[in-house]
Amino acid sequence: MEIRVVENTAPSAKPADSELGFGKHFTDHMFVMDYEEGKGWHDPRIIPFGYISLHPASTVLHYGAEIFEGLKAYRTKDGSIQLFRPMENIRRLNTSAERMCLPTLDEGVAYETLKAFIRHEQDWVPHSEGTSLYIRPFMFGDDETLGVHTVKRATYMIIASPSGSYYKEGINPVKIMIESEDVRTVRGGTGYAKCGGNYAASTRAGERANKKGYSQVLWLDGVERRYIEEVGAMNVMFKIDGEIITPALTGSILPGITRKSCIEVLRSLGYKVTERLLSVDELFDAVKSGRLEEAWGTGTAAVVSPIGRLMYEDVEYVIGGERIGPLTQKLYDILTGIQWGRIEDSFGWIDKL
Ligand SMILES: *Cc1c(COP(=O)(O)O)cnc(C)c1O
Repeated sequence: MEIRVVENTAPSAKPADSELGFGKHFTDHMFVMDYEEGKGWHDPRIIPFGYISLHPASTVLHYGAEIFEGLKAYRTKDGSIQLFRPMENIRRLNTSAERMCLPTLDEGVAYETLKAFIRHEQDWVPHSEGTSLYIRPFMFGDDETLGVHTVKRATYMIIASPSGSYYKEGINPVKIMIESEDVRTVRGGTGYAKCGGNYAASTRAGERANKKGYSQVLWLDGVERRYIEEVGAMNVMFKIDGEIITPALTGSILPGITRKSCIEVLRSLGYKVTERLLSVDELFDAVKSGRLEEAWGTGTAAVVSPIGRLMYEDVEYVIGGERIGPLTQKLYDILTGIQWGRIEDSFGWIDKL
């Protein structure tokens, strides 16, 4: 696979690691590849980062044909760069594409182009503790017609953003509000796909929670509004009576790679992990009787995020004395240790650049 490269002749100054934040700065190049029915994917290229132009009738602008992924490139102590389970992201991108009637990518091509792009931008992987290069592959339909159908034209792109440490001020447990009005998705819907539309639809509840002093919402299932699904853009896990319970992937939940990795780490440590339906009633029974020991969210950005307070129908429940629990801390240490190369990867998850 031949990738055309157009170098950016006016590269920008790199921000200091202390000023990175999340998703504010972008590297000097972006990856682009086009799709056309009959012709397939073609013209993979790395070109200077910049604006793109779209036909005003483009499918993505009217019917929301868009999917994305999120992963990080980590710099290890010896200066080398590594990825964490990138094939999982590629497979999930194709699952999302299939759901949204977008064209899938050949796994090998997606993998090679991803690595080639990161290699090209490798100087942008920051060095300070906890920082990383956040990589955002995405795809959208850009048919130049208002007709509604499977797209005949699409664009696949990758952009990258050097990002600061998620926990600059230490790992503080978050306050979560259980949402009882809006739902994120329903079974049979698009919950398992990583698509922009899911985010557009869930922003309103997030904003309402923010106004009340909660950082994110915990979603309940869209039919009975009883079963716990996930937290904002993170999957969620509970330690009840020594057992770890996480909502089963029923179709309305995003199958997180961090979720999957946590389950594998926990099982390797000898914990019992159960994927099943968990109702709010059962959860609050466990809280009230003191059997809920720890609760945390999982996702690429935060890795593991302890939950310190849960608000439901105007009652607030404190979890684990609002401190990070020992198992949450252990999971965080193991996963980040593997990702940044501080501890040996006995799972085979690391992919050196
Ligand atoms: C991306 C995402 C997650 C977390 O997935 P990871 O692969 O662990 O980063 C969880 N929930 C939603 C809705 C997401 O979009």
